[in-house]
Amino acid sequence: MCIFCKIAAGEIPADAVYRDEKAMAFRDIDPKAPTHILVIPTRHVASVAEVDDALAGHLMTVAARVARDEGLDNGYRVVTNVGADGGQTVDHLHLHVLGGRPLTWPPG
Ligand code: AMP
Repeated sequence: MCIFCKIAAGEIPADAVYRDEKAMAFRDIDPKAPTHILVIPTRHVASVAEVDDALAGHLMTVAARVARDEGLDNGYRVVTNVGADGGQTVDHLHLHVLGGRPLTWPPG
């Protein structure tokens, strides 16, 4: 079982901020911004390259809800890394929700 599957199953602790039957959100262990939350499907999906429309839409909705709940009224970023060149280090789909400071663009 991958590390995010273990978090979804409650086998590894996480600082969860949201959970429903299809998704959960928890604080990144190594935050890159004052607010850095990961939104994941509770079932294993490797990356956005393998997600279906319904789940993709749900995860985006959860990301927006989490950002609202965190008070990121000045803006935020939702990003997902795919594969080696994308910088993906955990092979379980996750949306990064980053905010709380101005974010530079483009990413490096
Ligand atoms: P990525 O590099 O896009 O695959 O993002 C993986 C993210 O997962 C990184 O930002 C890590 O800091 C984060 N991460 C890894 N392990 C944990 C964990 N046990 N709890 C919370 N976040 C984690």
